[in-house]
Order: sequence, then structure tokens, then C-alpha cells
Amino acid sequence: MATRIETLDGEDYEVRSVTGSAATSSYRCPGCNQLIRPATPHIVAWPVVPSLLTSFSGTGVDERRHWHTACWQRRRTG
Ligand SMILES: [Zn+2]
Repeated sequence: MATRIETLDGEDYEVRSVTGSAATSSYRCPGCNQLIRPATPHIVAWPVVPSLLTSFSGTGVDERRHWHTACWQRRRTG
């Protein structure tokens, strides 16, 4: 599935949309600290440039976070 690049707090993130049918688990949204329930369309974002913590693996994918779409948009626009 295609990803796009979006900026949050001055960092570039790869962002992927997750459809409701693909959302089979609950996730904790870092934007509102509430659960994203299964079957809820949402987004996954991870840094293009990995933080020092995970740079050993050479990818930011380990830092994937699931966000409510609205929380991500609100956080990005302030
Ligand atoms: Zn949220």
C-alpha cells in the first residue's frame, strides 16, 4: 500500500492509511491516549529518519505508531 510523507514537529514521517477491514487489533493512539478499536480506519506513521534508539536496525519502522486520523491531523496542524 502506498505511503506518503508528512511532517510532524519538524520531522518527516512516512504515513500509511489503514482501512477498517485491515485493522484487526486495538492500538493506543499517542495523540489522545485512547484506544483505536479494531475495524476503525486510522493511520500508521513512522519517522523517515530513525531515532538513535532504533538506528541500529537502519529503519524507522520499529517506531511505527498508530494514530486516529483526526488526532494525527490535529497534531500536525497544531
Ligand atoms: Zn487519538
